[in-house]
Amino acid sequence: MKGKSFTFLVLFCYASLSAGLNAQRSGTIVMEDVERAHFRKEILIPDIAGYLTLKCDFHMHTVFSDGNVWPTVRVDEAWEDGLDAISITDHIEGHPKKLPGQKHNGYEIALPSAQMRDIILIKGGEISRNMPPGHFNALFVSDVNALDLPDYMDALGEAVRQGGFVIWNHPGWRRQQPDTTKWMPEHEDIYRKGWMHGIEVFNEKEWYPEAVQWALEKDLAITGHSDIHESYNYKYNTDLYPVRPLTLVFARERSEASIKEAMFARRTATLFFNRLVGKKEFIDPLVSQSVKVEPSHFSHEGYLYFNIRNSSDIEFTFLKESADSSELPARFVLPRRGTLVLRAKQVKGKAQNYLYRLENVLTGVEEHPVFMIRVQ
Ligand SMILES: [Zn+2]
Ligand SMILES: [Zn+2]
Repeated sequence: MKGKSFTFLVLFCYASLSAGLNAQRSGTIVMEDVERAHFRKEILIPDIAGYLTLKCDFHMHTVFSDGNVWPTVRVDEAWEDGLDAISITDHIEGHPKKLPGQKHNGYEIALPSAQMRDIILIKGGEISRNMPPGHFNALFVSDVNALDLPDYMDALGEAVRQGGFVIWNHPGWRRQQPDTTKWMPEHEDIYRKGWMHGIEVFNEKEWYPEAVQWALEKDLAITGHSDIHESYNYKYNTDLYPVRPLTLVFARERSEASIKEAMFARRTATLFFNRLVGKKEFIDPLVSQSVKVEPSHFSHEGYLYFNIRNSSDIEFTFLKESADSSELPARFVLPRRGTLVLRAKQVKGKAQNYLYRLENVLTGVEEHPVFMIRVQ
């Protein structure tokens, strides 16, 4: 009896399947399911006390300078990649790839898609000069075309007059500073005028230790951006690195005005390809919100077993500060959204603290936060 009903079921399914496939025998047959689904891959980075942690990329190009894509593509990518805010920062000056007479209206073209997707789109442009002084992004400006002035000081001054936030881009770009990363008299001049508000610690696939130093010494906002020219997925190894380079902005609200306020107040950090760089006051809470050590759940043959959980998309590399008899690993990687079971030699009746340095997290040029693993 069982066998019979099974055969019947198989026949029935086969019959209805072939009926479905053969329902239409002429005309255009549209195969709706061949298109890929579009969904937002949320990036998990915890908020910190008093602030939302917004995920932003403030440096990217389109066909309105030397990029390969239409402005709306930047919004599509940003939405799928889980970003909160972006800025399209095409080169302001003439560029060989720029079409003659072309004005900067990447922002205007992308704005409706950004509004539909709830992506905060910040108006900006890249003032792009030879070194010195190099390239600068002007964000939150009202009229990008008005920044196209022959003298770079006039261009920067106009950006500031418009309420713009100015970032020194890729300060150690090999094409412009092949040997070292130098702070030149021209940069000092701009800085002293109060016209340099932030600096890129990371750009495309380069990062600059000197920029970390300057950001901390001179109180510049720490930023990191893709400076993407082609399509994002075409360029980067997204299997190995699913999270885009980000400027993290610690904002009171998820709005353009709040981002602007936070950036002028220097409440930023950057996460790029498993490296997290920022001031201690923001990095410490980010780490403690992300990583939790649980009390041991099992003891066996003199060892305590316990979980260490990472609820964020930031991978952490732990390096033990000093040798001890715990038999905890000297170095281990806690993957993003991952939990590891660790075991430590049991010390009778006493909780033990072990100190690890987070190798991939920087709060200064050679400064790493210390994470305490409490075994109990
Ligand atoms: Zn540039
Ligand atoms: Zn650029």
